[in-house]
Amino acid sequence: MSASDWFDLTGQVAVVTGARRGIGRGLALGLARAGADVALVSRTAAEEVAGEIARLGRRCVPIAADLAEPAQVDRVIPEAVRALGRVDILVNNAGIGTRGPALEVTPYDWHRVLQVNLHAVFALCQQAAREMLPRRRGKIINIASMMSFQGGILIAAYTASKGAVAQLTKLLANEWGPLGVNVNAIAPGYIETDLTRPLKEDPTRNPAIVARIPAGRWGRPDDLAGAAVFLASSASDYVHGHVLAVDGGWLAR
Ligand code: NAP
Repeated sequence: MSASDWFDLTGQVAVVTGARRGIGRGLALGLARAGADVALVSRTAAEEVAGEIARLGRRCVPIAADLAEPAQVDRVIPEAVRALGRVDILVNNAGIGTRGPALEVTPYDWHRVLQVNLHAVFALCQQAAREMLPRRRGKIINIASMMSFQGGILIAAYTASKGAVAQLTKLLANEWGPLGVNVNAIAPGYIETDLTRPLKEDPTRNPAIVARIPAGRWGRPDDLAGAAVFLASSASDYVHGHVLAVDGGWLAR
């Protein structure tokens, strides 16, 4: 096998959640550039990204599903299989947060963040694994966070959910690794997206963040695509239960 074959995803089918914008869009395009067909999951259909992927010559289907609603979560894998034949790669990227002191977090916000960032992730992992395990092959990539390692501040539900995502990734790797399915996670550092706009626009927090990043800049969604292609490809067949930080060196400080 040549080095480029290790990363070739031609003929593989990927499901990427939160693919309409931000990091998910970058990951979906990266997987498509490596050869994958892609089901794009978001609240509103990701028509623009679907057009970009079609122009790359890959098959693609946008799936509109609100992952805050468990019944809609359950539609995702069956719809992807109906449209594209099977699922080889699942990227659990969709995620939300709320910002404010822990004492002011409402039960509604707490449960909504945990539903999208953790419960939907687990349900999609289960459903994708049922699809993958009979073939004894599959790649699951969960999107974790620096908050999988650090506590953060003013984002209690988010930190709780991302800590759990990292631990869940390890547990699933232990259970499904022996059955041929790789489960790993990517922990992005500070990436410029709608989610982080309040931090980027904060005149105090933004310079403090950039000063602490060894790479000297915020990340861009494209910066994560290589890690996703690696974890989706045969190059990572012996990588199980790893949480890969793509953070410009943030954790090294
Ligand atoms: P973003 O720009 O806010 O985009 C979020 C994406 O998730 C959108 O496509 C959105 O769909 C989708 N989404 C949100 N809630 C959903 C729901 N209930 N049902 C279905 N789809 C939903 O966020 P991002 O910054 O790219 O973050 C993506 C992931 O990376 C998240 O898990 C986040 O926690 C993680 N992360 C981000 C950073 C960062 O610095 N940006 C750092 C660490 C980890 P619509 O477009 O239809 O609304």
